Amino acid sequence: MVFDDLPTPSLILDWDKLARNCRNMAHRATAHGVRLRPHLKTAKCIEVARMATDGHFGGLTVSTVAEARYFAERGFRDITYAVGISSGKVDELHAIQSALNASINIILDSSAAAIAVSERAAAIGARFSVFIEIDTGAGRGGVGPNDKVLLEIASAIVSRPSLRLAGVLTHAGHSYLARSQDEIRTIAAQERAGAVLAADRLRRHGFQCEQVSIGSTPTVLNSDSFDGVTEIRPGVYTLFDVDQASLGVCGTGDIACSVLATVIGHNRRAGHILIDAGALALSKDISPAKFRDDVRFGLVSYADSLEPIPGLSLSSLHQEHGLISAHGRSLPYDQMPVGARLRVLPNHVCLTVAPYDKYFVLKDGRVMATWDKARGW
Ligand code: PLP
Repeated sequence: MVFDDLPTPSLILDWDKLARNCRNMAHRATAHGVRLRPHLKTAKCIEVARMATDGHFGGLTVSTVAEARYFAERGFRDITYAVGISSGKVDELHAIQSALNASINIILDSSAAAIAVSERAAAIGARFSVFIEIDTGAGRGGVGPNDKVLLEIASAIVSRPSLRLAGVLTHAGHSYLARSQDEIRTIAAQERAGAVLAADRLRRHGFQCEQVSIGSTPTVLNSDSFDGVTEIRPGVYTLFDVDQASLGVCGTGDIACSVLATVIGHNRRAGHILIDAGALALSKDISPAKFRDDVRFGLVSYADSLEPIPGLSLSSLHQEHGLISAHGRSLPYDQMPVGARLRVLPNHVCLTVAPYDKYFVLKDGRVMATWDKARGW
């Protein structure tokens, strides 16, 4: 398929950038002596999983049962489903484990969840490895590293034959709110120290805690030390996005994923160029807005070079329409006639990618492949 003939909106993956991003993270994990269990909730794609795990042990992280099934069906055998488990998901995860000879590791942060899940697992003959989720500052799921509840949860797990305590797991999601690289480094140190402390407490009380699993893309790329950590689980680094670039975690030139769109109209009265990529094609995430005011819903870029076009912003999104406006310049109606193409670099790539069913993969300016991907829950 020829690039100029691709349908719009469509998801474009730049192979060289993807390969470089995967290689860099794999080297970083090796250099620091930690296992890399990349989070595939970002790309949700088997080819990306193969590239991201190259040279490592082949474990993955996922955030939906649909992803767990998709990757297990394609040969991945060690998968952590890293969203707090509920008993309603046990049957489907067990079906994946037994039909595909895979191990699905689960996470939880309460004795109640351990009891409910173990009862359902015992009823259907399932067994799961379990990570206790630790809150190292993100304030989402997890128990504090020093919380006495940690030991109660561990007791609940080890007293149930359908569960096996694998270790502790944390995700420093608050690294996305950091204002500087120094602040990310501080959060990375807290993430590591909190996970290691939780693991040490468990061990001191006689529990086995083999795995100490940490990771967000900003923290693993800025951490000074991985002492006591056994594995890292970054995900966004595979594709990167405008939020990561605005945080200073990558350059705009590292962003491997973009949305190809067509100009579908000029509204000179309102001062807009309209494209056929709206909220469903891009998501309405505005996370970079906390760092810069020139990006609203994504970076408007040339279709061929992927260079951002100065002075243009995607100022408003409707379901299937994107409205481009100009600041500090006039709108280039003549250079962007109806039918012209451009690309948008996504603000938060995980959300942009999710609804699509495939990527068109570009190498040396040519479409080298179409890669399918998982969708849904
Ligand atoms: N682990 C967990 C539990 C997560 O929720 C996430 C992301 O949300 C990650 C790892 C990956 O981090 P990032 O998205 O920063 O690459």
